[in-house]
Order: sequence, then C-alpha cells, then structure tokens
Amino acid sequence: MRSLRMKLVLIMVLLILALMTVAGSFLINGVGEFYISEFYNQMTGTFSQDFISRLQETATEDNAPNRLKELIMAQPEIGIDISGRNVYVLDESGAVLAASGSADAVSMTANMLTAMNGAVGQASSVTSAYMDLAVPVDSDAGRYIVYVLDNKHTVNALTGEVLTIILRSLALGLLICIILAFLLAQIIIAPLDALTKGTRQVASGDFSQKLTVTSRDELGVLTRNFNSMSMVLKSTLAEVENERNKLSTLFLHMTDGVVAFNSDGGVIHFNPAAVKMLCRTIDPAVKFDELFGATANFSALLALPKPQYFSVEMEAGSRDLELFMAPFSADQADGGIMVVIHDVTEQRHNEQTRREFVANASHELRTPLTNIKSYAETIAEAGGDLPKELHDNFISVIIGEADRMTRIVKDLLTLSRLDSGKMEMSISRFPFARAVSNVYDAVSIDARNHGHRFTLELAPNLPEVDGDRERLEQVIMNIVSNAIKYTPDGGKIRILAATEGQTVYVRISDNGIGIPAQDLPRLFERFYRVDKARSRESGGTGLGLSIAKEILNQHKGDIKIESVYGQGTDVTISLPIAKA
Ligand code: ADP
Repeated sequence: MRSLRMKLVLIMVLLILALMTVAGSFLINGVGEFYISEFYNQMTGTFSQDFISRLQETATEDNAPNRLKELIMAQPEIGIDISGRNVYVLDESGAVLAASGSADAVSMTANMLTAMNGAVGQASSVTSAYMDLAVPVDSDAGRYIVYVLDNKHTVNALTGEVLTIILRSLALGLLICIILAFLLAQIIIAPLDALTKGTRQVASGDFSQKLTVTSRDELGVLTRNFNSMSMVLKSTLAEVENERNKLSTLFLHMTDGVVAFNSDGGVIHFNPAAVKMLCRTIDPAVKFDELFGATANFSALLALPKPQYFSVEMEAGSRDLELFMAPFSADQADGGIMVVIHDVTEQRHNEQTRREFVANASHELRTPLTNIKSYAETIAEAGGDLPKELHDNFISVIIGEADRMTRIVKDLLTLSRLDSGKMEMSISRFPFARAVSNVYDAVSIDARNHGHRFTLELAPNLPEVDGDRERLEQVIMNIVSNAIKYTPDGGKIRILAATEGQTVYVRISDNGIGIPAQDLPRLFERFYRVDKARSRESGGTGLGLSIAKEILNQHKGDIKIESVYGQGTDVTISLPIAKA
C-alpha cells in the first residue's frame, strides 16, 4: 500500500470496525441480560408465597393440571402472550399434563430437576438458548411442577434488530469515515504533494518556485522551512557558482599552465597556457604518461601524502618548463593529480645572459689589464735601458689601455644605472632638428678627416620632443661614430631626419662594411661585436648599442638596424613627438 491516502482510509475503517464491534457486543449483551433479569423479576413477582398457596389449593381440585395452567395464564405479569413463552404443568417425572401451547413434551432442564427435588429452579445464563422457571406445587394430591419456558424468541428478534441497526450505522460510519479520510488525506496530502513537487524542482536545480504556506500546523512549518531551505541553497549555490566562475576565469587566463588528471591518469581539465607551453594538443583521451611519463611516476604521485608535491624540470620544444605535481584529494578513488606548469625559459635565458655578461665583462677588463701589466713589466725590467721612442710608445699604450678600461667601466656603470632605473634624466622639451644638427656639426670634422661624404637632410618643420637632450644627442653621436668607424675611408654617410605618424626619426645610413644577417639579432646584447679586433682597435667597448637601446626605451622610443653585409648599414632612431 503505497499511498498515504489509502493508509489513512484503512486506519479509519479499522478504527470504526473496532468501535462498532465493541459497542455492538456491549449493546447485544446488555439487551440479553436486561431481558433475563426482567423475566426473573416478573416470575419472582408472580410466584409469591400467596400465589403458591393458591396453586397448592388448586392442585387438590379436579382437573388440577388444567386449572393450574389457567390460573397461571391469568396472571398478566407472566406475559404468556409474549411470543415464544409457554406455561406447562408437569407431573413429578416431567411429563406434560397441561400446556399453554400445543406441545405435549418438553425437554428436561436443570431448573426442572431442581423443582423435582422440591426447590424453585430459576437459574439461567445469557449464553443459553432459553430461560425457564420451574416451581414445585406440593399438595396432598402429589407434586405438580409449574414450568414457564421462554425460548428467547423476543430477545433474539430484538438482538437481531439491534444488530441490523449496528450494521447499518457501521455502513454509514464507514462511508462517513471513508469520506473523512479522503478529506483529511486531501488536507495532508495536498501540501505534501506540493512539497514533493518542490523538492523535485530543487533537485533539478530550479530554485525559483516558492511554495505557498496554507496552514499554521506542522505541514505549514515544514513548507515554510522548505522555502527557507531552498532560499539558503539557492544563495549557497550562487556563491559556489560564483567561486567556480572566478576559478575558471583564473584558470583560463593564468599564465601558468594547469593540467588535471583523474585517478586513471586521464585528462579532466587543462588550460590554454598548458597547451601553449607543452606545444601540443591536449584532449580527454590523452594520458598522464603520454604527457609527463618521462618525468614522473603516476601511481607514486597519487600516493603522496597531502601537502607534499613533486617538482621536476622538462623541455618542450624550445621551452624550459618547471612542473609541480600534487595529488588533489585524499581519497585516491575520486582524486587525481594536478600539474602546474611554469615557463622558466626566460628565467633560464636571463640567468644564462647574466653568466655570459659576467664572463664577458671580466674578459673585457682582463685584456687591457694584461696589456698594461706586460708593458709596465717590460719597462721595469729594462730599468731605463729602453730607447726613449719605445719607452714613450709603451707608456702611451698603457695610458690607452687604462683609458679603455675607464670607458668600459663608465659604460658598465651607465648600463647598471639604466637597468636599476637609477639613471637620472633631465627631461626638457627641445626641437629635434637642433639636436640632430648639433651632432652633425660635432662629428663632421672627424667624418671629413676620413674622407667621407657626410650629408644632413632635415625635413621642414620637424617637431619638438620631450627627453634628456644631452643623452639623446650622445646616442645619435654614438650611431654616427659607428657609421664613421665601420665605413672604409671615402665612404658615404647620410643623416636624415623626418616624421612618421606620431614619431620623429633620424636615420643614419652608411655604405660601409655592413653587418652579416646572422649577427643582426644579437647587436643589442652587451659586449656583442661582429668583429672584436676591429671594434677594439677603434676604441669601441661593445656596449654602445645596448646603452642606446636602454636610453631609447626609457624615452618610449625605438632603435632599428637594417644592414646588408658588405654594402652598408641603416640605423633608425625614433621618438614620440611631444604632445601639445
Ligand atoms: P662598439 O663599441 O664595438 O662599436 P656598439 O655596441 O656600438 O659597440 O656596436 C656593436 C657592434 O655592431 C660593433 O662592434 C660592430 O660590429 C657593429 N656595428 C655597429 N654599427 C655598425 C655600422 N654602422 N656598420 C657595421 N657594423 C656596425
């Protein structure tokens, strides 16, 4: 029986049945008992001592049995006209001598036996099928027994009537109770149905519906609690969803790569950064071993206790990757492994550059130092025996090398200040054309000395720029000096200044030795020189272009070098035009 409605009906039916059975049996029993006590009351009332004396007198008369019978029947209390009640006059042995009805024999009863022994027999019980009274009438003529027998016809009919009434009311009661049960069920079940529907909706993730509270009883409280529970759930879920969105946005846009694996080693999550870093496609079919099998053991990782993780480095394509791997749930079955990938290519490259820089700087400083030492030793060993010309020559070499070291140290200091942002710039607004022509004027004698054809072209109305004029002029000067240095005497050097969009630029073009294509990308590295001997010979430190690049960076400007080996070089410096 699954419906509450049927259960309620059943309970009510059982209740009414039990009630009616109990009430019915009390009623029927009561009626029976009342009838019996009424019968014996009538009998004791009738068979008084007087009446018995009269009976004894009558017993001596002729035709005594019939006379006795009539005398008794004349007593209205005997109720002889009640159906099923008869009067008999018996002899000592119980044979019928006279009877109110047609019967000529009666069966022997306990009361009859009592009477035969000379006492009044008047015992009965509710359960027996009849009630009787046997009175002995003793006289000189012998003993007659007056016997009144009621076969309970009347009480049986009455009990039947009562039973019918009980059954009728039972039927009516049942009908009423079924209707009531249905109504009650309706009252209880309607809100329960609403609650069931509500829980189903909540389970399917729909929190929009609020159930109407129709009563103040327990069901009303339950409905109200349900409403507040679903509201709390809604806001909690919204929070969770919000957190999830935050996390997935973070996951999507973070620079570190993340790949998550389930306990079988299959991919469950990955972000675009991971795809980029691993230089391969990832999909749910890819297994841990395929991606990281060479670096770590999956089951050993799964068994790692919680805050512990495993870190290892690997290479993917041209990248250096640092991997952090850790299990993400204590329960191995629904847990898995999270791998966070950190791209350390740049870090490694920077470390490498730094190491190279230190090595280069030491080497650059050691060369002049060695020279200074050996020349100084030679002079010392000669003890003044050196020809004056040679002596002076050695001294000037020593001074030259010391100057070189000073230049290198000065450049290094400049670079280090630029790197750390400690280089102070005195920013002012100045006409770009004036700065370029200043440089031109300053170096034109040197250029002519080398027999170069040195020209300056300035576009009309060149704008102003904001910047450290002295340093920017120094940068342009450096580039022009390079053009003079790396162009064989009698070459062509041209300076052109013009605007382009929001920038103003100066281009220094020469038809000198040019730069091999493979060296072009490395020109801005510190100490990088295409031809070390030539650079050193001309007093270069290999730091000029790096310094130029740094200074232009700080001015939001740019420097580009285009060159064809053996034909010449174009260096373009551009700066943003000063805003009005
Ligand atoms: P350096 O002090 O050696 O000149 P730079 O940083 O100024 O150092 O230049 C780096 C290198 O770039 C030079 O050693 C040289 O090989 C090359 N270079 C620069 N300018 C030119 C140019 N105009 N023509 C050819 N090579 C050049």
